Amino acid sequence: MSDAVIRALLAARTPAALGELKPYVPDPAPVPIRLDANEAPALLPTLSDAERKTLHDALAAIEPARYPDVRATALREALATQLAVSPEQLVLGVGSDEVIAMLIATVGRGPTSIAIPTPTFVMYRISARLHGLEVIEIPLDSEWDVDEARVIDTITTSRPAIVFLATPNNPTSGVYDLGRVERIVVAAAAAQPPTVVVIDEAYLPFRLGEGDPWKGVTGLDLLRKYSNVVVLRTLSKIGLAAFRVGWAVAHPLLAAEMEKTRLPYNLAAPSQAAAVAALGPLAPAIARHVAAINAERTRVLNELSRIEGVRFGRAHANFVWAALRKPASDVVATLKSRGILVRNFPAYPDRVRISFGTREDDDRLLAALAEALA
Ligand code: PMP
Repeated sequence: MSDAVIRALLAARTPAALGELKPYVPDPAPVPIRLDANEAPALLPTLSDAERKTLHDALAAIEPARYPDVRATALREALATQLAVSPEQLVLGVGSDEVIAMLIATVGRGPTSIAIPTPTFVMYRISARLHGLEVIEIPLDSEWDVDEARVIDTITTSRPAIVFLATPNNPTSGVYDLGRVERIVVAAAAAQPPTVVVIDEAYLPFRLGEGDPWKGVTGLDLLRKYSNVVVLRTLSKIGLAAFRVGWAVAHPLLAAEMEKTRLPYNLAAPSQAAAVAALGPLAPAIARHVAAINAERTRVLNELSRIEGVRFGRAHANFVWAALRKPASDVVATLKSRGILVRNFPAYPDRVRISFGTREDDDRLLAALAEALA
């Protein structure tokens, strides 16, 4: 079998964007302490016997021969009630990753672009390129806040289909100023044609509470005022990443169009069942988990501030964006040799992103980091 035919086929038929992309392969090394993916620490050990049984029973009741509920009715209703929105405003996906792709497929009629602050979550770029959209990057300012003037200028001159604002942002863990975000939304609504502004609140549970710069205001409050806002949420960061459940809240007319891009039965039955349990009987367990992560954040940041050669700003998510006095790639390699994974970013050679884990894992990270920087 010769490769010639398939090579000719791929050269002529794959979209140009595939040439820029690599398959997403997380570090496969069997490293025991993984603080590189913004996951929550393990949930099961924190559940009472009754809570564990609740989750088990919900999953055990699934009939394998049947497709899942195509509209995810029970989950949709539970979410609508919790968020005080109508079920028609919700678009559910296999993680918010899938919802991002659905949104781009819905409003990405080309030729067009998306605008993103940098650094930010990588899937906005990847999904946009796969759908044939250009990507306009607007660096965050020196405080890692969104550059309002440049974003508004980009909206009026380049007319991107979507501006993606993750707040708290990944990897910086900072919150964008509410006034800046609202003025961007207003400018995007006034543009011809209007631009969608995504407020990605994947890390919202860690922002709420003490010291919340938005004082309890969320993207949903902006959506109630401005129909060009789309809010993204996920269960991935609060202990349920295995089930891949994320959603958008949008104006019902936009949500109805997005529904046309959704593959039937996208949300598997175990995911629907687990998510319904998480919003219902397991809600106290999830709230405990989030509170424990937030308390651990306070403790780790306190310890981190005692280590020489580390600087960091406010962390509003379940991770910290830290500047190191030694090259981050060297420190990451040293930590990995001690069984600890954290993320570094080639474009920011002095920075690492460290997720908060269990107390034991974080203590090992802190000790290894202090040693690596000594
Ligand atoms: N948005 C942001 C800002 C993220 O950091 C992530 C995960 N890294 C996601 C969305 C995607 O989360 P999921 O697909 O697991 O819901």
